[in-house]
Amino acid sequence: MQPILSEPFSYETFPNSGLVAYFSMEIAINPAMPTYSGGLGVLAGDTLRSMADLGVPLVAFSLVHRKGYFKQFLDKNGKQSEDVQPWNPADFCAEEKARVTVSIEDRIVTVRCWRYDMTGRYGHVVPIYLLDTDLDGNTGWDRGLTDHLYGGDTNYRLQQEIVLGMGGVRMAHALGYQVNVYHMNEGHAALLTLALLERQLGGGPLGAATEADIEQVRKRCVFTTHTPVPAGHDRFSAEQSIRILGGDRSARLEMMGCFRDEMLNMTLLALRFSRYANGVAMQHASVSRAMFPEFALDSITNGVHAPTWVSESFQNLMDAHFSSWRRDNLYLRNAIDVPEQEILSAHASNKEALLAEVARRTTLVFNPKVLTLGFARRAATYKRATLMFTDPGRLLEIATRAGGLQIIFAGKAHPQDDPGKSLIQQVVADAARLSNDVLHVAYLENYDWKLGELLTAGVDVWVNTPRRPYEASGTSGMKAAMNGVPSLSILDGWWIEGCIEGFTGWAIEDGADDAAEADSLYHKLETAIVPLFLEAPEKWARLMRNTLAFNGSFFNTNRMVKQYVRNAYYPVKLIEPA
Ligand SMILES: *Cc1c(COP(=O)(O)O)cnc(C)c1O
Repeated sequence: MQPILSEPFSYETFPNSGLVAYFSMEIAINPAMPTYSGGLGVLAGDTLRSMADLGVPLVAFSLVHRKGYFKQFLDKNGKQSEDVQPWNPADFCAEEKARVTVSIEDRIVTVRCWRYDMTGRYGHVVPIYLLDTDLDGNTGWDRGLTDHLYGGDTNYRLQQEIVLGMGGVRMAHALGYQVNVYHMNEGHAALLTLALLERQLGGGPLGAATEADIEQVRKRCVFTTHTPVPAGHDRFSAEQSIRILGGDRSARLEMMGCFRDEMLNMTLLALRFSRYANGVAMQHASVSRAMFPEFALDSITNGVHAPTWVSESFQNLMDAHFSSWRRDNLYLRNAIDVPEQEILSAHASNKEALLAEVARRTTLVFNPKVLTLGFARRAATYKRATLMFTDPGRLLEIATRAGGLQIIFAGKAHPQDDPGKSLIQQVVADAARLSNDVLHVAYLENYDWKLGELLTAGVDVWVNTPRRPYEASGTSGMKAAMNGVPSLSILDGWWIEGCIEGFTGWAIEDGADDAAEADSLYHKLETAIVPLFLEAPEKWARLMRNTLAFNGSFFNTNRMVKQYVRNAYYPVKLIEPA
């Protein structure tokens, strides 16, 4: 039988559409480049991988982050220490000749960039430009502006945002790009609007901008917000704004309503200058509308790049049963027909690979037959990593009834986040105290892309316990779903849309406090998860393939990018006849 549209398959670049420039403070480009910290960067990378696969005409801008996001070390008490991860851009990228300048405080800073070509499945290239201020002629301080991702204080951050937003727009022009759509991935890039407005005014004073000028900028900008709580939004004091950006610009931004609570609010700035804005899950959009009621906010739920996050064993399994799933992730729906035994054996090999890594890193020997839970994400307090340990006695009972229970943790705390660091120590202390012959707990160091791959594919259940509504979306549970791994999670972010109880995983019910939510977590383990795990492997396998078929086919960047293209970049009504 001749397959329909078998690979190789060639896409034309999207027709009738101009160029998009995508701006993000972090992008997980390549596992060997430490240019990302966590979810936002991985999402940006997965987005660009799908843009490249789908042939979207797009270029991206970020900072080079020469010192990398930090490497995490944990001592035996779980005390975190950090080290830089310097990398050499010339090993992965080509230097561009173009130079642009930005003004910061009273200095003129020169910016160059490094080009990384992200090549899609069918050969389409998305160039990524990493902006770099490490140049002779810049002061020592300025040379370090593109060194540390989320390092330093808010003065450093605002200066970095000038390099990203204003430097990025100028660099796009210097490289000769005619950009039709500017996409701000989170408020960090909001200053690009200021650079566009200044260009619109031909370099003239900002005070002279008219509504029509602002409208010209708005026509070209779209914005994705990722932060569901006011404290998470990037904000700078009026003093910082005046000192770093300049008095004229600050006055203008204040006049245009970009200040809230006497702070320059980057989310507000991005919203004011965008013709389209969205949140990253349905609930996140509605929470954001409540925070910014004067703006229309759409919702485009996040996804993950399937060919990146589907493990090799599941890739082989799907290739044997249905083709074309990499080109169009909707075909993942066909996982519903894969025989149970094949699902079980693909998962067994993922679990074996994970447990081998646990043994290599910790000398703990975990049993592949024992129910294994995974919890890995940024160690932020709202994610409540210790919720599972609320009632140790009950957890031990569950472990006994299940014939053993293994829990694997990982996650970095931001170097300046002391409560996050204490949380890691707390998990490690609980683990040491509670581990016995039925319960085994490991905390793995230095959570990153590669460890994330092993964990999301290799555990039996992926656990997430954020405090509502702090999780804008979350994406690691989607990576798990790509490998048939169900989630046990608070109904927050994407899981409100992804959870079909007992079919793609389980919901931890909303409770009045942490104890009530822990109670629900235990209850689901006792009454649903452990019994199903013990009962019959085929039943567990059916749950796994439901998870893959239903959630893999939707929570992917292939679907998400098509939504950005048609809902945000080129909505049908905006396409003018030739
Ligand atoms: C996917 C991923 C994240 C995001 O996880 P959440 O589910 O959003 O908490 C963070 N860090 C790494 C290394 C990842 O791969």
